[in-house]
Amino acid sequence: MFRKILIANRGEIACRVITAARAMGVRTVAVYSDADRDARHVGLADEARRIGTPEARASYLNIEALLGAARETGAEAIHPGYGFLSENERFAADCAKAGFVFIGPKPEAIAAMGDKSAAKRLMEKAGVPLVPGYHGENQDPALLLKEAGKIGYPVLIKASAGGGGKGMRIVEAAAGFAGALESARREAKAAFGDDRVLLEKYLERPRHIEVQVFGDTQGNVVYLFERDCSVQRRHQKVLEEAPAPGLSAAQRMKMGQAAVAAAKSIGYTGAGTVEFIAAQDGTFYFMEMNTRLQVEHPVTEMITGLDLVQWQLAVAAGEPLPLQQKQLAFNGHAIEARIYAENPAKGFLPSTGTLRHLRMPEGSEFRVAPTGSPAPARVDSGVRQGDVITPHYDPMLAKLIVWGEDRGVALGRMRNALAAVEIIGVSTNVEFLARTVASKAFSGADLDTGLIERSRAELFPADTGASDEDLAAVAFAELLAEAALAAAQAKNSADPHSPWNIVDGWRLNLGSHHELVFAQGEKTHLVQIHFAPEGYRLSVSGRVYALAGREEAGVLQVSLDGAAFRVRAVRDGADWHLFRDGAHRVLTLQSAQGAPEPGIVAGSLAAPMPGKVLQVLVQAGAKVAKGAPLVILEAMKMEHTIAAPRDGRVAEIYFKAGEQVSEGAELLRLEESNG
Ligand code: ADP
Repeated sequence: MFRKILIANRGEIACRVITAARAMGVRTVAVYSDADRDARHVGLADEARRIGTPEARASYLNIEALLGAARETGAEAIHPGYGFLSENERFAADCAKAGFVFIGPKPEAIAAMGDKSAAKRLMEKAGVPLVPGYHGENQDPALLLKEAGKIGYPVLIKASAGGGGKGMRIVEAAAGFAGALESARREAKAAFGDDRVLLEKYLERPRHIEVQVFGDTQGNVVYLFERDCSVQRRHQKVLEEAPAPGLSAAQRMKMGQAAVAAAKSIGYTGAGTVEFIAAQDGTFYFMEMNTRLQVEHPVTEMITGLDLVQWQLAVAAGEPLPLQQKQLAFNGHAIEARIYAENPAKGFLPSTGTLRHLRMPEGSEFRVAPTGSPAPARVDSGVRQGDVITPHYDPMLAKLIVWGEDRGVALGRMRNALAAVEIIGVSTNVEFLARTVASKAFSGADLDTGLIERSRAELFPADTGASDEDLAAVAFAELLAEAALAAAQAKNSADPHSPWNIVDGWRLNLGSHHELVFAQGEKTHLVQIHFAPEGYRLSVSGRVYALAGREEAGVLQVSLDGAAFRVRAVRDGADWHLFRDGAHRVLTLQSAQGAPEPGIVAGSLAAPMPGKVLQVLVQAGAKVAKGAPLVILEAMKMEHTIAAPRDGRVAEIYFKAGEQVSEGAELLRLEESNG
């Protein structure tokens, strides 16, 4: 085995490889760009080297810098991770030339699969089933049009050099062919510097099923079963699972053997994935081979109990495969969800920013499920709270992987795991993932690559705004925070026994009521809490509820008219973030009245919202008792009574009835009365 390896990557996969290597007693070298100086993978490795400026071209794609770092640190092998240089035959060749073992296949194997058309010609020879189509070298538009006619519409045009769905066009009829071909070529030329294309029959409602293969330098190749990655958006995987639902043992074996034949035909070594496209009846066709470890490899690990990265290291070190085909088995069901910093409502636009709050479900990181035992959620992540998500790299934040005895159990665990994720600072797809997992199509295993599109109504529901429960939860959270603040202030104040500071959570007694205004987007919500001896009453959106609640280890238990629910509330500045059953709501505190909250300066009383003074109930000089009504304001077509937060004397009144006040305007000044 190697003594030391360099990981030519970043993010979660760099962390994943470092952890696996450490478990094998192999030392690790991380590399980083200037944008990643403080990244998690850098801290996790035994050593780290800077390789350049943030742009990938200058750092993670910079072969010279990577080889230099390997030389300097005395690494013996280089793990490319996925993405970046993982499928770059020149990098694999340069590693070997420089005397490092490339932890992956030989450059020739990468090259053989790098071109989709050439790969298909190879697979045809190896007897692997292909989607009916054209993958010849002649690229004459007239010939391509003729071939498309032979295949029968709809036809899919794909860039031979393609990847990431670029240069792909669906053509419904001959009339649209020429235009689609031109634009596919333009896109392919721009993305890959190569405008050659191939044609395929466009399958209706296909599934994406891929087989994990592994080869060693002794010529052994095995398959580690399949993954269903049909849930995609814009040809990018969102949810992956293993095994593929509904696949029979016979189909599984047939697909596995076809994948092994594909790998053997190019003398494949290391971890690879043969991607198939499958019709609903189970007929499957070769699509392409990825000559690297896949993002979604953990679902295979969870059902086989194997560590694929450790296998990669073993095979790269020249060891034979740890297990033969007949020793391989799988158990249960695993699902992976990719958590991205992106905005699903805005066409999945990547989102950047600082991860001001990050909480993941309890789980053992990188743990491979001991086959047959109820494993908790596994979290593969490359980020920590406080990290900055920059526009330089892929916005994937983490992968959430769960295992269950069967698909139903795994689904339930995934729902729970997603509900436990809390991220503040960037937009994420967590809520979208939770809806997708719970959708009729996904939970019913009615899978095809169009699942997201055809489930749109379910996955992108209209925003219903904050519910009364949300408002109750956020008001409750705010009261607790104010009570905690008051308690802290009392501790520090000269007179810790001052009655001004008695604001003790649910026993707080601040006069008759407490008003809070929260904004959500354009909308504002007024929440009033009345403190009565028999309990608390919550007035919100014209309704009154009996309110009760408590907090335990950061989880709020809130009860409205006896119906209790759990929620976590996290404050970030004036924003309250509510995390409840996988949904994330943000409510911004506009103002509060009735408690020593910042914004309401002791001795003054400010308008909690813009409005009109309806009535002034006291005169300057009057002595008032805590809770006494002072001013009635009208705002948002409702009346709000501003009450004295404590005993005192009205020193000055700043507004008359009928006057408009802006939010935060001081209405009157209350001073301590001396007896
Ligand atoms: P890329 O390498 O650009 O990702 P692939 O060939 O892997 O392209 O295809 C990406 C996705 O496009 C597949 O996962 C599948 O959803 C869809 N797709 C590919 N080929 C076909 C086809 N012949 N019919 C229908 N959908 C297809």
